Amino acid sequence: MKIGFIGLGAMGAPMAERVVKAGFETFTTFHQRREPADSLAAMGATLLASPAEVARAADTVITILPADAELKDAVFGSGGLLEGFSGGEVLIDMTTATALTLQEIAAALTPMGVRVLDAPVSGGTTAAANGTLTIMAGGDASLLEECRPLLESMGSRIIHVGTLGQGKVVKIVNQMMAAVNLLAIGEAFAFGVRSGASPDTLYSVIKESSGYSKMMERLPGFLLAGSFQPGFKLDLMKKDVNLALDSARAQRIPLLFTAMASQVFAAASMAGKGSADFSAAAQFLADLAGVQLKAGD
Ligand code: NAD
Repeated sequence: MKIGFIGLGAMGAPMAERVVKAGFETFTTFHQRREPADSLAAMGATLLASPAEVARAADTVITILPADAELKDAVFGSGGLLEGFSGGEVLIDMTTATALTLQEIAAALTPMGVRVLDAPVSGGTTAAANGTLTIMAGGDASLLEECRPLLESMGSRIIHVGTLGQGKVVKIVNQMMAAVNLLAIGEAFAFGVRSGASPDTLYSVIKESSGYSKMMERLPGFLLAGSFQPGFKLDLMKKDVNLALDSARAQRIPLLFTAMASQVFAAASMAGKGSADFSAAAQFLADLAGVQLKAGD
């Protein structure tokens, strides 16, 4: 298998390293920053000039880009994948984007004989480095089985969730729930602290109680430490809740809590927290009540 890898960001760079280390012949290109491509080349990957050249060299191309616009650019833009595919290749898209965009891409590539697999991820940068991502695969089940050995170099839970686009849907549902649960912590903890409870006490009691969500894992190390080194950037979570709103708008479905969450993330981003860990949005909400969630404050 000759692998093309497009998108060497916070997630893509460690994922691509695992692909190279697993022994797959890998081709990549750079975009804006050259360093991640140079370090992948130092590990044995071949550095090419454009996504089109990567598509010419590889039989399976992985994309993991910020969102819909960048994914469309990498496929349809000048020097994009579409120019390099000749038929018979596989595109595995691991971006958190909308199902609609991936379906548009598949509609253009399928007639050329390029098969498309939808495979967004969860687990963050640590899981990307350790090869323990969860991969939500949408598309043909037999194509997933063909790609499984490659995906296993990056993920430890690889789940077939349905047809093409369903990976994106499941991932967006996860992001909606994570965003709303995180903000619920910010608001409820601010109330608790204002009413005399300590953030530590709230954490230790509620982590064993019915108010628990996995987002409480953002308390130690982030909110209770008052430290917001990402992690998962707030602007990426803002993008994800907006993907949910865009998709729901197309289906005329109301998303009341997600719409409110989107506004909080937009306000926190405007307040300069876009590059901080997304948990900073919970502190941003607590700030409205004049409360620091940092333990000991
Ligand atoms: P990032 O911004 O760190 O990296 C994106 C990369 O794509 C950058 O290297 C950028 O240069 C490159 N890129 C942008 N436009 C391009 C183009 N037109 N052609 C080629 N390359 C281009 O983002 P990330 O954190 O790596 O996230 C990537 C995707 O994974 C996003 O959809 C994100 O929502 C999702 N995700 C991120 C995390 C996380 O913890 N960071 C976790 C799960 C899922």
